[in-house]
Amino acid sequence: MNDEPDGTRLDGHHAIHLETGVALINALTGDHVHGKPKPAPVGHDLVRAAAEALRQSDGQVDLPVAERLRAVASRLREIIESLSRREYDQAAGLLNRMLADSKARPHLHRHGDQSWHLHFHSPDADLVQQWTAGLAVSVAAALGDHIPHRVGLCAAPRCDQVYIDASQAQIKRFCGLACQNRVKAAAYRARRSGP
Ligand SMILES: [Zn+2]
Repeated sequence: MNDEPDGTRLDGHHAIHLETGVALINALTGDHVHGKPKPAPVGHDLVRAAAEALRQSDGQVDLPVAERLRAVASRLREIIESLSRREYDQAAGLLNRMLADSKARPHLHRHGDQSWHLHFHSPDADLVQQWTAGLAVSVAAALGDHIPHRVGLCAAPRCDQVYIDASQAQIKRFCGLACQNRVKAAAYRARRSGP
């Protein structure tokens, strides 16, 4: 797996979880994207969106699993919204509840002749519990490392996308160029039509 240093102290494993969490939130939750209404995926679309966000192509994601993943994504969104408002006490409380519900139980594991590595979920956890534990632990690690500003909500109107700010300066405000340009264009139009 890609393990590039990105200027923060969040280790590769947590960084990858955080990316997956953001992908899951953006794929399964939110009412608007880039200024347009965003219909909630249902049925087959929901299953495909969830599987893509987890990069899980082995058929483990069916509709009930995808619905549970959407609930996990909604909880994560609530946490990231709290973080973006700098309501850290609230975020910590929500995270502690998510950790408890996930029955996270760190243990060392090895597949075949791979090296030992840390799993956060209990050994008998199903797919959704595994992800819930992994995502909750990684967001909690980010919060504990005082780098919660790395995740944020797009500041553009009518966009609910969440982003990760990997820049050194931590100045990202929008989910991407589409929203950044949209806001710039609106400001330009407002100046031109002004008095
Ligand atoms: Zn946006």
